Amino acid sequence: MDIGLKGKIALVTAASRGLGYATALAMAREGAAVAICARHADSLEAAAERIRTESGATVLPLVADVAQPQDVQRMVAATLDHFGRIDALFVNAGGPPPGYFMELAPEDWTKAAQLTLHSAVQLAYAVVPGMKEQGCGSILVNTSVSVRHPLDGLILSNSLRAAVVALAKSLSIELGPDGIRVNAIAPGWTRTERVDALLQARAAHHGTTPEDELGQITANIPLRRMASPEEFGQVAAFLLSPAASYISGVTLSVDGGMTRALL
Ligand code: NAD
Repeated sequence: MDIGLKGKIALVTAASRGLGYATALAMAREGAAVAICARHADSLEAAAERIRTESGATVLPLVADVAQPQDVQRMVAATLDHFGRIDALFVNAGGPPPGYFMELAPEDWTKAAQLTLHSAVQLAYAVVPGMKEQGCGSILVNTSVSVRHPLDGLILSNSLRAAVVALAKSLSIELGPDGIRVNAIAPGWTRTERVDALLQARAAHHGTTPEDELGQITANIPLRRMASPEEFGQVAAFLLSPAASYISGVTLSVDGGMTRALL
């Protein structure tokens, strides 16, 4: 099936590894040219080179911290300068730190809001005017299964990702008449480098092995395994593509059936 990404321009943030990288690679394999960002030039350049080699696509690496409004503006301007338009935007960032309410301070909330919520707001303000002018575009915000059931010890993520979903839903209503689709994607456990590090840390803490920890987690997932980043990237690429032309305003779980909710 051709999902219609050939010749399209995508901007994928936080893409030197993990879910952002997998999404950029999936879109590049489908024929899109991609601009990718991360905070560190070395790992970003290496990721861009891997995507070029694996897909043959044009890749524009741009060093940027999405929590910094001026970086977001510079990155979007550079993408528009280089490619002339942005058809698809994947909004992604590192996760806010874990912690329970009384372990955190108000400043932690300010920082987390900048990283998780304000980055999405800034990206939308920077990209939407061009999409309106084109009369089309698609935006996908990355969230987590925590938007359907809050997770223990992750109050910053639980609270701010819910706001991001509300933002996406509101934007889908406001921007639909301009031909712009806005959706959210909610990953469950996906085996990125970050999750591998987490399994090792849990094993060291409990005196077990990473495989033991993996088994404990996957026992609660109906498909009995974590997703690969590629599985996530393919769904994200589809939602951003013309093949999903009548899907807007949804939050799609990619969680192996883990979310115990009817909707
Ligand atoms: P990861 O740590 O493997 O990758 C994060 C990427 O974001 C890296 O490329 C990093 O350089 C980049 N990055 C981090 N902060 C940035 C910033 N301020 N500006 C620009 N780039 C930045 O993480 P991941 O597993 O790919 O997760 C991506 C997002 O999805 C996170 O917010 C995470 O909390 C969320 N999530 C992940 C999972 C999972 O199982 N992997 C599940 C639910 C939600």
